[in-house]
Amino acid sequence: MTNVNRIVRLGLVNAYLAHEDDGLTLIDTMLGGSADKIIAAAEASGAPIVRIVLTHAHGDHVGSLDALRQRLPEAEVIISTREARLLAKDMTLDPDEPQEKLRGGYPGAKTKPDRTVDAGHRVGSLEVIATPGHTPGHVAFLDVRDRTIYCGDVYSTLGGVATSAKVNPVMPLALFTWHRPTELESARTLRALEPARLAPGHGKVIESPLEAMDRALARAS
Ligand SMILES: [Zn+2]
Repeated sequence: MTNVNRIVRLGLVNAYLAHEDDGLTLIDTMLGGSADKIIAAAEASGAPIVRIVLTHAHGDHVGSLDALRQRLPEAEVIISTREARLLAKDMTLDPDEPQEKLRGGYPGAKTKPDRTVDAGHRVGSLEVIATPGHTPGHVAFLDVRDRTIYCGDVYSTLGGVATSAKVNPVMPLALFTWHRPTELESARTLRALEPARLAPGHGKVIESPLEAMDRALARAS
């Protein structure tokens, strides 16, 4: 039995609904135009979306945020403190961050987060894990009930488990990665948490992913 409910568009882009006692937590919002599909999935599971949490501010993760805010005004919107700046289209880097070019699309959103979170904070059953590198404020979410990790773009599983620190021809997320050494460290952080299940932003959910994560880390090192 798992709490994981994956929603897919174009066979490429995922969002997830995590079931909680008070309703559903939506993890990421996919591309623009995905609100209908997400709301239909929530209705099919018989519970309201009460929270929207975001792994990072790339357009294929925040694209339907504004539409969902309009349709679900009661849902609390949550993003990491660092990534909130990118959601507001503040593209500045901090002096202590790698001074690398931000890559990939950051469309921003009109929606202001209701809450910002940092490493160790909880969103329902989900623990916030700092996983910078793909973007400066990327976070993953560990469901402490079943050790599912919603890893955003730290790993993808399209064409096999891979980090976004090294270009995978099937899903070249690394082209949109801000700082590959930092991303690789974050990929190691998630492996060390020994997830029972890896639920990525792109690709299918992988059960018992540790060996596949080890191979991906070895390839990227
Ligand atoms: Zn991304």
